Amino acid sequence: MSNQELTERWQGSLMNNYGTPRLPLVRGEGTRLWDADGKEYLDFVGGIAVNALGHAHPAVVAAVSAQIASLGHVSNLFIAEPPVALAERLLRHFGRDGKVFFCNSGAEANEGAFKIGRLTGRSHMVATRGGFHGRTMGALALTGQPGKQEPFLPLPGDVTHVPYGDPQALAAAVTEETAIVVIEPIQGENGVVVPPAGYLKAARAITAATGSLLVLDEVQTGVGRCGQWFEYQAHEGVLPDVVTLAKGLGGGLPLGATVAFGRAAELLQPGHHGTTFGGNPVACAAGLAVLDTIENEGLLENVKRQSEKLRDGIEGLGHPLIDFVRGAGLLLGIVLTGPLASQVQQAAQEAGFLVNAPALDVVRLMPPLNLGDDAVEAFLGALPGILDTANGAGSGE
Ligand code: PMP
Repeated sequence: MSNQELTERWQGSLMNNYGTPRLPLVRGEGTRLWDADGKEYLDFVGGIAVNALGHAHPAVVAAVSAQIASLGHVSNLFIAEPPVALAERLLRHFGRDGKVFFCNSGAEANEGAFKIGRLTGRSHMVATRGGFHGRTMGALALTGQPGKQEPFLPLPGDVTHVPYGDPQALAAAVTEETAIVVIEPIQGENGVVVPPAGYLKAARAITAATGSLLVLDEVQTGVGRCGQWFEYQAHEGVLPDVVTLAKGLGGGLPLGATVAFGRAAELLQPGHHGTTFGGNPVACAAGLAVLDTIENEGLLENVKRQSEKLRDGIEGLGHPLIDFVRGAGLLLGIVLTGPLASQVQQAAQEAGFLVNAPALDVVRLMPPLNLGDDAVEAFLGALPGILDTANGAGSGE
């Protein structure tokens, strides 16, 4: 089977909602991936921040294999141990008492937060412009990207979108009618946009004053991605009421979580919510393997170390196409001096590196948390040539 054959079969059988993806991949190991023609790539996309431990990590493979061989799906009519152990483990990393609802994706984790908000008895919600919270109708209503919303109007809920990173706009929008305020600590899909210092702290103070719940969407930033277990922990004095997780949590298996604290943890009552696959033992066993490995292999430290090397290395190139690097940990955006991100993505792929272009002028890196020195050095070594090629493509030479 070749790249071309697999692409044609894809076009003949899958809905066209993604457009045609650019590369058929058939195998992965650690940071490496191979396409159907046998070409090798270094993976700096990481399944969009999903592959916390890279591909086919032995701890995930062993945990999933052992779990599916002993007890697979049981439904929420019964109790299984892996979701209990994973919830306990997550709460230990949060360092707080709370309660967890497991689901299967980031959008679903945010739907859980949406419902918790409704159970406060208030219905107004505040979210941010440019924010991304998923594609189901509730999560899409919170998403602040009009182009994605327009074909599906009217969307559920009464949502006010405010400019991201602006505490005054937030203070003006949030009232005693506001149930939830939903914020990403860093806007990943919007191009790795980092808010000014003090923004999350201000959001906490504003929501506390109106009795609204502060929901932090850590679907992309959480689970070690930014150098701490959860990115809000880098912000002093910020204790959210709800945190949503997915992506890296399952290490490649579909796993999401709505984690709630204090009164927010007690609002869902029997009959209010559920999902058949939520908390399934196999995904939760993968989640435990991910958290174990991050802890046992000191990966939070590795994230910080490789982040610094990448940042310094990229900015140190002094290439005319690079403006600066933003983000935290291994969620980095290379901000370009021109709208050439998709040309950079294409040139990188040709050179054997997978990166992503969430905005016209931003190249996003989300490699595995156990990224090694070799991969960083290979990427930094290839980047000037990739940028030169992109520059040439962009100017039509
Ligand atoms: N929230 C954030 C911050 C995300 O980045 C994403 C996915 N990119 C989602 C929610 C939606 O997650 P999923 O695609 O698993 O539904």
